[in-house]
Amino acid sequence: MEFFDIIITGCGPTGATFANYLGKCGLKILIIDSEKEIVNYPRAVHIDEEVVRIFQELDIFNQIKTTAIKEFEYYHLVNKKDKVLFEFKPNCSISDEIPSCNWVLQPEIEKYLRNGFLQYPTIDFRKNTVCLDFFQTADTVTVKLLNKENNLSYNCAAKYLIGCDGGKSNTRKKLNIQMHDFGFKKEWLVVDTLYKGTETFSEMHKQYCDPKRPTTYVNGVGSHFRWEFMIKKTDADLSEAEVEKQCIESLHLKVPMKDFEIIRKKKYTFYTLIAKKWRHKRIFIAGDAAHQMPPFLGQGMCAGIKDARNLAWKIAIACRVNNKYSEMLLNSYFEERYLQVKRIIKVASLLGRFIQFTNRYLTPFRDFVLKAINILPQHFPDLLIEKYLYSYTNSTRDIFPKFYLNGERLPQPIVFYKNQKVYLDLIIKDKWVILTKEEEIMKNNVFGTDLFYITDKIIDSQHTIYGENLLEWFKRKKIDFVIVRPDKIIYSGGKKEDFNTQLKKFNPFLAAIYSFKKTINNFHLTNSAIL
Ligand SMILES: Cc1cc2nc3c(=O)[nH]c(=O)nc-3n(C[C@H](O)[C@H](O)[C@H](O)COP(=O)(O)OP(=O)(O)OC[C@H]3O[C@@H](n4cnc5c(N)ncnc54)[C@H](O)[C@@H]3O)c2cc1C
Repeated sequence: MEFFDIIITGCGPTGATFANYLGKCGLKILIIDSEKEIVNYPRAVHIDEEVVRIFQELDIFNQIKTTAIKEFEYYHLVNKKDKVLFEFKPNCSISDEIPSCNWVLQPEIEKYLRNGFLQYPTIDFRKNTVCLDFFQTADTVTVKLLNKENNLSYNCAAKYLIGCDGGKSNTRKKLNIQMHDFGFKKEWLVVDTLYKGTETFSEMHKQYCDPKRPTTYVNGVGSHFRWEFMIKKTDADLSEAEVEKQCIESLHLKVPMKDFEIIRKKKYTFYTLIAKKWRHKRIFIAGDAAHQMPPFLGQGMCAGIKDARNLAWKIAIACRVNNKYSEMLLNSYFEERYLQVKRIIKVASLLGRFIQFTNRYLTPFRDFVLKAINILPQHFPDLLIEKYLYSYTNSTRDIFPKFYLNGERLPQPIVFYKNQKVYLDLIIKDKWVILTKEEEIMKNNVFGTDLFYITDKIIDSQHTIYGENLLEWFKRKKIDFVIVRPDKIIYSGGKKEDFNTQLKKFNPFLAAIYSFKKTINNFHLTNSAIL
């Protein structure tokens, strides 16, 4: 029987992101998908800046950047007469020159993700292969697979199994994991079109809050336009073809439909669901298998990709060491991601309820509320987004020191390193690192190559980064050093006088997770590190 470090079932965006991260770590991975080709339904069109940062980490962003992504500036809720009720210009990017919001096309993104992991020799990708069954013992998971081409089934085993098999996840069902339902359920018709004409149309993203037919408008990448139409209760009297006809016809008032070619369409029911458990011993679930939300915030795929980034480095450690700390790390996946995704689902559902409002008598009241919210200063939603939708406010206390920045994201400024202008992430890579602005801490180089000195002048040195913007950030946060996790989440930090205490307290954890002989990223922590 073949044996792998990890088996991933499902090669949608979540599974493919896992394969990229784990392939990068050199782990032996089997990833399967039940289909022959990438699913070509009209699905994700938006990714946030954090996902762009992930694509940078995975080294696929440079290809995506050329043709497959476009900045999206404004989020508008408008009434049926196109008058703005609520306008939001997201400005929460903490990566230099990367917009907060971006248009993409899901099948294109999946193509780049697949090409990304196929470069790693330790990745085995089997299409047209279904996971029929699995069982686990104390140290392995055995998976029964079916090759759909020859109809033959066979077994493979691994240390861990990650179910990324989408909303109808067999992995979740077989583990009998229940979903919490937030009570949102609505049908929408989603239509992708290509524009063949020469006119230009609004670049604004619009949600038409028209009680007659709530509609979404996206002017996406290249000539792609996305339309989404809410299916109303009264549509139940009509056939599906008639509803579709009505929806498309309603567009004639907005654009010259003769110049638009319909390339895909599909009716969906949007839910708000979250699995109550994301781990059962050696089996994890991620992406749509663990959570589903309506697309009003454009966050479903983003959430799955972020699940992969959160768990990948932890499970890579657990493949190499097995102790109470690696266990804690694995458990922190659910603790960190669950709360964040739950909040996103709640906001997406609230937004959906505003957009889907169809009581025409109460519509003026809804419009009034939206206009009132619109008066709030623009930076207010950005702060909320950073705190509640990007940070891990409940990072596991057993592992994480009590530090006010813990769980927050490290910013990604453009800095100078060895006389070159680069993104900070390109220097620190996916390692544990310490960044400091204090020379004294530099001398205490217990972290070997993974300690960087931030200066206000260009120095051609392996351990020195010139970045006034980063120094400014240290100043604003009133800290002298910061310890950063491989996923660019802040682990700890403080003033220089706190440095030794911080290390003493948390070295057992770091030493334990890096106690294997062949260290990931050459990260060495020796006895001398324990001060
Ligand atoms: C209309 C619409 C608009 C959306 N817009 C956005 C947006 O703008 N931004 C955003 O972030 N998200 C958006 N989403 C959500 C996004 O499409 C999903 O969240 C995303 O596809 C989830 O990725 P996944 O990899 O977890 O699951 P999936 O994409 O569903 O992939 C699951 C994979 O598993 C495979 N599989 C299933 N069962 C098995 C099995 N037994 N064995 C082997 N393989 C199996 C499937 O073939 C599939 O390839 C939108 C969704 C819809 C419907």
